[in-house]
Amino acid sequence: MHEVSIAQSLMDVVFETAKNNGAKKVNKVFVKIGRLQAVESSPLMFAFDALKDGTIAEEGELIIDNVPLTGKCIDCGHENTFEQIFMQCPKCGSHAVKILTGEELQITEIEVD
Ligand SMILES: [Zn+2]
Repeated sequence: MHEVSIAQSLMDVVFETAKNNGAKKVNKVFVKIGRLQAVESSPLMFAFDALKDGTIAEEGELIIDNVPLTGKCIDCGHENTFEQIFMQCPKCGSHAVKILTGEELQITEIEVD
């Protein structure tokens, strides 16, 4: 499952960061996930909860910020939100659309004690 390997790599970053900061406990983990990553929030949280058991992040909470897919038309400059990667400018019909957001998959903040 896609979400399990993502949760695993998030955890690696969380543990590494907690260790480097001499943290005793991880309280909150904020992640930004772009629409293009095709990650479902609930299986990701489920995987995170399974992996955190018995670790420094046992009581940690995963807070997901879902970032929509947005793009800017290279031909007419129109910005729009899109549902999928095959982006077409609704204003001029061009397919030359540059992705602005939606590719994110990153931890933005880790709250520790
Ligand atoms: Zn356009």
